[in-house]
Amino acid sequence: MNYAFEPPATVTVPVADTGTHFPVNRVYCVGRNYREHAREMGASLREPPFFFSKPADALCSHEEIPYPGMTGKLQHEVELVVALQSGGSELSVDDARSAIFGYAVGVDLTRRDLQAEAKKSGRPWVTAKSFDHSAPISPIRPVGESGHPGQADIQLAVNGEPRQQGNIADMTWAVPEVLAELSRYFELKPGDLVFTGTPAGVGDLHPGDRVQCDIEKVGSLRFVICPV
Ligand code: MN
Repeated sequence: MNYAFEPPATVTVPVADTGTHFPVNRVYCVGRNYREHAREMGASLREPPFFFSKPADALCSHEEIPYPGMTGKLQHEVELVVALQSGGSELSVDDARSAIFGYAVGVDLTRRDLQAEAKKSGRPWVTAKSFDHSAPISPIRPVGESGHPGQADIQLAVNGEPRQQGNIADMTWAVPEVLAELSRYFELKPGDLVFTGTPAGVGDLHPGDRVQCDIEKVGSLRFVICPV
């Protein structure tokens, strides 16, 4: 191919303990998928999952995340991330389950002040959710190694203090249900990642904060918010 200029490199996420890399296609995110977080955001219970997305190059595997500009209220949302090895449209729940390559720990970083303004004025969330470095992610643990984590503690601490603690069994919509619903709106592809929502306890981050996230059977993620 004769490109007009050098194309950007494919975004990848390391696959845990293998020396291989998962090539990323799209990054989808689910809003409000844990009962207590839905409550803290003022939503009613068990509404159907809703979706937004981040660009693939918002993912970052490095340990230093810059505090983004244009916000005074950066918040953390720790999430189980699902990585797909196959795709399709209108998947059944069983087909959705077999499309899963593995799982990772991710954080859906959010400019909460911009999100609140966007909600109020009915505008898109893109500047609140889809900014550069807004998706720190751990290496992906393949299903073949750890199976599907049906019950697993998910937690996030800041500077050693627990902030978010939940269990992925408390999701309103289980992972295969989320994927099946998502595939009604978009044709899912190998390389897609899905952030599956956050438990209660979202809170502010400031420059210098050390963030530690763990999901039982899946892995851990550590990063520091760098001064501007
Ligand atoms: Mn989220």
